Formats: sequence, C-alpha cells, structure tokens
Amino acid sequence: MGKIKAIILDRDGTLIEDKDYAYKIEDFELLPGVIEGLKILQKNFLLFIVTNQSGIGRGYYTDREFHKFNDHLIEILKENKIRIERTFYCPHIKEDNCECKKPKIKYIREIVDGWNIDIEQSWMIGDHPSDIQFGINGGCRTVFLTTGHGDKHIDELKLLGIKPTKICDTFLEATQEFLKQL
Ligand SMILES: [Mg+2]
Ligand SMILES: [Zn+2]
Repeated sequence: MGKIKAIILDRDGTLIEDKDYAYKIEDFELLPGVIEGLKILQKNFLLFIVTNQSGIGRGYYTDREFHKFNDHLIEILKENKIRIERTFYCPHIKEDNCECKKPKIKYIREIVDGWNIDIEQSWMIGDHPSDIQFGINGGCRTVFLTTGHGDKHIDELKLLGIKPTKICDTFLEATQEFLKQL
C-alpha cells in the first residue's frame, strides 16, 4: 500500500464559487479560506481536482474553454505556491453512461495507481452527494461541504443514506479536520 496521502478536491462549490456551468474568467471567484487551507494541506497531502463538467457535453462551453478557465485556477494557486498534481474532469452527460463521471471511481483508481496513494488515509471533499459517494466508493474518507450547492443537497444525503466522515461549513474547518486525523 502507498504511503502518500491525497486530498481529492471537487472544484465548483468547493474551491471556487459554483456559478452553474461557469467557464468565463469574469465569473471566477475563489471561496474563502481555500488558499490558506491548501497551503497548509500540501505539507502533508498531494492535491488533486476531480470535477464533473457536463457543461461540455451539454454544449454550454467547449473543452478548450474549460481548460482556459481551469488553467486560470491552477495559475492562481501556483502564484500562491500551491501545486495541484492534476485535474481530472468528466466532460460527459449522464446519458453518455461514461466511466469517468463521479461517483464512478475511474479517476480515484488513476490517482491511487499513478501516485502510489494510501487511499484509506486520504480524503475526498465536495459539496454534492455524488462527491461523497465517489469517495466512499473509492475507499477514502469524505468531507461534505455546505458551501456551493452543499446546503441545498444536505437533506438529499440523508435520503440517499450517504454518510460523509464529516460535514463542514467552510474549507478551513475541513482543513482542520484533515490535520486532526494525520
Ligand atoms: Mg461541486
Ligand atoms: Zn465521463
């Protein structure tokens, strides 16, 4: 088993404000505490983004536009000396029945195999029930954030019987949680 721990980050509603299929730089807005939290976390964890981007499949924006927007995020993090190992994204719509849309675990497998990750000591963090299901399916711990769409989906978690390890109201609260369990 790998010795390296990971934090797998949802993007929209977790790192940045979820503005429903955002792809324009003018709509880019980091959530509070994200820079501070990631700076602390990267001392003990490798950081990955796994994001569902059905806006591409729906034709709301192109693959190229997605990359331009995402590169902007990566660049801002880099300016703050934060390194994201890789961004994994699913461009498909549900009807495509692909293998890469969360909660399917294709990308968790790629992370574990590619970076020799100890998944049981790692975390998935997101603001949607599918993020939590993804983490559970992949064998890691999970934090459900009430930022982004989280607040809206909290009852759904209970209805679906999906149990995150922790529910947090801010990225910094989640950061503290990750550090507690080191
Ligand atoms: Mg999200
Ligand atoms: Zn996909």
